[in-house]
Amino acid sequence: MRKYIFRVSMLTVVLLLLAAAPFPTGRQQMRAEEAVRPNDPSVAAHSEPQEEPEDRRLTAPTLEAFQKPGAVTLRWSEVTGASGYYVFRTAADGREELLYRGSQRVYTDAGEAMAQPYTYRVAGFVYDDGRPGAASQECRAAPLLTVPADVQAVCAGAAVQVSWQAVAGAQSYELLRAAPGEPDLPLASTAQTLWTDDTAVPGVQYAYQVRACLGQSAGEASQAVSGRALDPARPMIALTFDDGPEPGVTDLVLNTLERYGVKATFFLQGYRVELYPDLVRREQALAMQIGNHTYEHPQLTKLDDAAIAEQLARTDAVIAAVTGETPVLVRPPYGAHDARVDGLIDRPLFRWSLDTRDWETLNSQKTLEAVLNRVRDGDIVLMHDVHMPTAQAVEQLIPALLERGYQMVTVTELMSARGIAPEAGVVYRCAR
Ligand SMILES: [Zn+2]
Repeated sequence: MRKYIFRVSMLTVVLLLLAAAPFPTGRQQMRAEEAVRPNDPSVAAHSEPQEEPEDRRLTAPTLEAFQKPGAVTLRWSEVTGASGYYVFRTAADGREELLYRGSQRVYTDAGEAMAQPYTYRVAGFVYDDGRPGAASQECRAAPLLTVPADVQAVCAGAAVQVSWQAVAGAQSYELLRAAPGEPDLPLASTAQTLWTDDTAVPGVQYAYQVRACLGQSAGEASQAVSGRALDPARPMIALTFDDGPEPGVTDLVLNTLERYGVKATFFLQGYRVELYPDLVRREQALAMQIGNHTYEHPQLTKLDDAAIAEQLARTDAVIAAVTGETPVLVRPPYGAHDARVDGLIDRPLFRWSLDTRDWETLNSQKTLEAVLNRVRDGDIVLMHDVHMPTAQAVEQLIPALLERGYQMVTVTELMSARGIAPEAGVVYRCAR
């Protein structure tokens, strides 16, 4: 019964179309095409047995549908004696459209019309009357939705701003959010490629995922990216640790940061990343920020342009090999820079506003006091996770700062929360 309706509607469409407009290709051209396509006996293998011989002068082609990102490509077998082919598309609501009329045996359905999975059929026709022959089997297909790329969750003060790259063919996106120990929850559905999560509880680290949707179908969820909101009304500082990682010391610092759920930034030396990649992986797993502190700590102002580029590029490469991400922050060794160095670096440079001189005192009490006696909202604090007294100071420093109401954040979070967008080649010391 359904088949009968389909055939009737298919004919209606075609006959109406023929009545309304003649073939744009013209009689001569169509006949010429017919003439250069002789009967091919090999095609008969693809044909289906004819159920209604009186109504079908042409056999049915075999249709294949290929789902691609944002499109469906149809290919079908040649029908002996056909002048051309009709491609019919039926939507979920049963509405049928004639998509294509021509002599090709391939058609790609793409664009804004691809709003849902469709059912496709192809039938040959002979020029003389334009009536479709036997239709191919039905192929149900929908464009593939790729996984959203470049998902980012950036702290935007009291909210988290999540963004991603558009997916071809997607109508909308679903945003998932998980908190530690909680299942993924659909947070929002949007047609944009950006969502501001203003329901995030400040300080809680969330994992965000995005998936592309088309009608009822949804693509796979992206990799989870972590993000959190901060309380702009409370003071915040960025603790930074340079020169590591160092076995024993970096572990201890990370243990303390993890215990209190606070974040810091680690400016790594490339050669140590190669020596201790597991420590770098742990920094990443704990959502610490990782910055480039050159490969082997030279004073950049004393190097030529090529050597500076080499120090940075080599470090980028070894960090990316371990974390899959290229650092967006650079800290020049010794804080040494000049206009030439600044101009060569394609990222913002970060110095500090509070120097603990921990490397000089090698005394945990002095390091602790250096911070607690001088700390102010917006500070970037310099320490080194290559000295054990520093790691010991951190064990007391974090609870003391939390007691004073400080939020300890990454350098990027600090700038973002204070509305500063760091620019390449510019040196920053604090967020005030
Ligand atoms: Zn250093």
